[in-house]
Amino acid sequence: MATQPRGKREAQRRKKGHPLRNLVILLLLIALVGFGGYYGSRLLNQPGKTTAPGASAVTSEAEPSPAVSTPDAPPEADEPEAAPEDTEAPDTPETPEETATPEDTDSILLVNKDNPLPADYSVELITLSNGSQVAAEIYPDLQRMFDDARAQGVYPVVASGFRSAEHQQELMDERIQQYLDQGYSRADAEAEALLWVNPVGTSEHQTGLAVDINADGVHSAGYEVYDWLAENAWQYGFILRYPEDKVSITQTDYEPWHYRYVGVEQARLIYESGLCLEEYLAQN
Ligand SMILES: [Zn+2]
Repeated sequence: MATQPRGKREAQRRKKGHPLRNLVILLLLIALVGFGGYYGSRLLNQPGKTTAPGASAVTSEAEPSPAVSTPDAPPEADEPEAAPEDTEAPDTPETPEETATPEDTDSILLVNKDNPLPADYSVELITLSNGSQVAAEIYPDLQRMFDDARAQGVYPVVASGFRSAEHQQELMDERIQQYLDQGYSRADAEAEALLWVNPVGTSEHQTGLAVDINADGVHSAGYEVYDWLAENAWQYGFILRYPEDKVSITQTDYEPWHYRYVGVEQARLIYESGLCLEEYLAQN
């Protein structure tokens, strides 16, 4: 008695499984081809990743100028739907796609001058159409945020994303050299530079989870983008990392352009708490 309905259900599920799976595979193929084409074409005439204001991983980072010319949407994201659950029929020739990493605890990594990144930190990066790189993990939500902003008439660009340890060290060395050139002693030059540049391992940009977001300078002005982000970024998993009223805690000047990805769930909690990341992590 009990077996019959279940048998029917299985039969139905099996019946439905095949066309659905074929459709998903087809969509994936289309997505791959389209994505690659778009990517390749966009990347060809773009220079390297050091376009932006990047120039400074400074405690008060230089204001991102609208130097990046293209309204650089990260390329279109094509996200595969969840694969069909039915694993009985082993007739799929495709290899399964890797799925995104889970978002919470890992992304709430605290990085500041007191909490440097571990030396062996590594991150999977994705290159945006303007040459900036970000952690692959944050890309789908970043894309969604930019799409929605544009749909509302606000045009953001990623002015600076991931920075390598080497790049960070270069910024420090350049700054020290500036002071040496001005006649400072080595010790004084280093001390002075530390006021402006985060030592290697202590810039959030090295995680790939932080982005400086600016206006495209054509369709939007900076304040329009900053206002929009302040109101909406949390819905996409990004928090304003250095709020104006938290300077004494973050030890970093107000940066309306610097957003840190923590995942949608945590971003909502942090936004609603009104706390900065240091405070939030101390309480949770
Ligand atoms: Zn920044």
